[in-house]
Amino acid sequence: MSENGPVTRSAVRSQSSADPAAAPRSSGRARKGPRLDAICAEAVELARAAAVESAGEGQVGDHLEAVPEGDRLVTHLFECLMPGYRGWRWAVVVTRVPRSRRVTVCETALLPGPDALLSPSWVPWSERLEPGDLGVGDLLPTPPDDERLVPGYLQSDDPAVEETVWELGLGRVRVMSRVGRSECAQRWYEGPHGPQAPISRAAPPQARCGTCGFYLPLAGALRNLFGVCGNVYAPDDGQVVSADHGCGAHSEVLTDIASPVEELPTVYDDAEIEPVVIHPPEGSVTDSDSTEPYGHG
Ligand code: SF4
Repeated sequence: MSENGPVTRSAVRSQSSADPAAAPRSSGRARKGPRLDAICAEAVELARAAAVESAGEGQVGDHLEAVPEGDRLVTHLFECLMPGYRGWRWAVVVTRVPRSRRVTVCETALLPGPDALLSPSWVPWSERLEPGDLGVGDLLPTPPDDERLVPGYLQSDDPAVEETVWELGLGRVRVMSRVGRSECAQRWYEGPHGPQAPISRAAPPQARCGTCGFYLPLAGALRNLFGVCGNVYAPDDGQVVSADHGCGAHSEVLTDIASPVEELPTVYDDAEIEPVVIHPPEGSVTDSDSTEPYGHG
């Protein structure tokens, strides 16, 4: 190791503990914060060289400050110039043994400053999940306390569902709660199959799904506002549409249909024949020319 080469923090710790002068004094009075060691604080160029060795040329900026960490233990902070590390700082810890002016480097590290650009704290996968993330073969367990669902034996708050389940004695383990249905209805209504969709706004005002023969109302309370489009020619075919959505394929859209043109059979007028005289170009063989031998036996 060179004279000013890096040493580990544990090595520094063992040096300090071997020094009786560095041991905490039991004066009974509370010690103030560590004093800035002047010799270590002056070792800016030594610290800069260590930072450059770790970061590379051109990545270490101005010296920002020297922070006392303990007896003869100082951290030099340098501006970090690496792209993407705005506000980060190169920290170089230096120290020296008692009664020596030789400063050595303990370690270098890249640390965030008070206004550093940091990644967001960890977010559980269940909160990071976005609609459409579920792929083929994926499993997405629903938590037991999902507010969108309630146990099937509780009242679902949907009269139509309760009536059917009660009468038939059937039911699912969980059904959608009022919260779940409200969120769902809001999402559908404001989505691409609601009244504000471009295709809906461009359609004739009277061409609304609620009056369309291809509109299949949903079951339950949601049937008041939502149904499924069953028109194979409509862009919304197979999608849940709101009753006030609409499109140009509405079953009752009427347009002026032009009267059909009567098609007559094709007539060939061959009553008169016009003879045409053909003049073969010079050198052509005519019917009156004698045949020539082929030249083989
Ligand atoms: S064809 Fe058009 S108007 Fe009719 S249900 Fe489908 S989206 Fe609505």
